Amino acid sequence: MSDHTALTPARLEARIDLDALRSNVRRLREIAAPAQVMAVVKADAYGHGMLPCARAALEAGAAWIGTAVPQEALALRAAGIEGPILTWLHSPGDDFAALVRADVDVSVSGQWALHAILEAVERTGRPARIQLKADTGLGRNGVQPHDWPLVVDEAVKAERDGLVKVTGVWSHFACADEPGHPSIQLQLTAFHEALAYAEAAGVRPEVRHMANSPATLSLPESHFDLVRTGVAMYGLSPAPELGLPADHGLRPVMSLVARLASVKRVPAGHGVSYGHTYRTSEETRLALVPAGYADGVPRAASGVGPVSIGGRRYTIAGRVAMDQFVVDLGPGGGADPDPRPGDEAVLFGPGDGGTPTAQDWADATDTIGYEIVTRIGPRVPRVYHPVDSSAPNA
Ligand SMILES: *Cc1c(COP(=O)(O)O)cnc(C)c1O
Repeated sequence: MSDHTALTPARLEARIDLDALRSNVRRLREIAAPAQVMAVVKADAYGHGMLPCARAALEAGAAWIGTAVPQEALALRAAGIEGPILTWLHSPGDDFAALVRADVDVSVSGQWALHAILEAVERTGRPARIQLKADTGLGRNGVQPHDWPLVVDEAVKAERDGLVKVTGVWSHFACADEPGHPSIQLQLTAFHEALAYAEAAGVRPEVRHMANSPATLSLPESHFDLVRTGVAMYGLSPAPELGLPADHGLRPVMSLVARLASVKRVPAGHGVSYGHTYRTSEETRLALVPAGYADGVPRAASGVGPVSIGGRRYTIAGRVAMDQFVVDLGPGGGADPDPRPGDEAVLFGPGDGGTPTAQDWADATDTIGYEIVTRIGPRVPRVYHPVDSSAPNA
């Protein structure tokens, strides 16, 4: 992960501002209070690096860590992360015994999962911590209302038998990033009903939770005891409708920075990159940026992705290839010095001084900021500022 040597500038690197992450977590705690914050670090912390981000989030007062799949939760425990961790996406055949031994809270979205966990409890001789997930309308994971009594009753019986502790009841929104969407109030009502049933059946959850980042920022009545924030913790706005990160006191954590591999002069009418979808209109300078779709730069950014070089903003010329793309710097000759090989090209970052943001890339390529940062691939070193000092090999 941090396989950089500070003296050798990387071809391409993702700079991760851990101070910004800590500050974002503190800000989200203020927004959520008195509810607590779960730092969602699935998918390698949305591409930012799971362990350094989990550590930084805990330092800044996150009370819980959230992961999607068991391997993520187990990797956190193996690295010495303590405190409550919830994992929520399971498939038959997953190692539930390992989760029980590691004291990871396991979400239950159906009867099969409860049975698999009870089997793991029998095998390990340890009680499991489980959280019951209601499908209140998302139509993805979670227990449907007609199965809710069955699953709740079985969990309560297992709790009375000392086999499990039901630590949470929770759900997830479908359209929290569209404030005022009619499904939001319907889901809240359905969640209150699911909670009422569970509480009447004898469940005493430590935490009831429903809010992701957009709900945390826009819907206080969804905060309950805990909010599960991912994208906002990484300093991105969940959707343009919810404003800019700065409107919420948040700052983007990842900057993607390349070093120019070449700058050369070409004549007018020169084709650029595969397919010659771009042709120079005059004699000009072409800069080669060594970043491509193998690194997570979307090919859909061909001809539209923004890049900042020498404080000026440009648009990608022609196609994004697997490892590289080209920027037309224009003929030059003005007062500005010529960009040179080795100079920095900022693909995205916090947006200071007009440099592009991940949201700008999302707008240009018709996707969401989440996908832009999460897709940054394993070939790109993550460089932590300040250095992730708690890492064993920092
Ligand atoms: C990814 C995820 C989150 C975090 O969502 P953000 O919008 O990034 O805050 C919360 N809850 C669940 C169940 C998730 O899968």
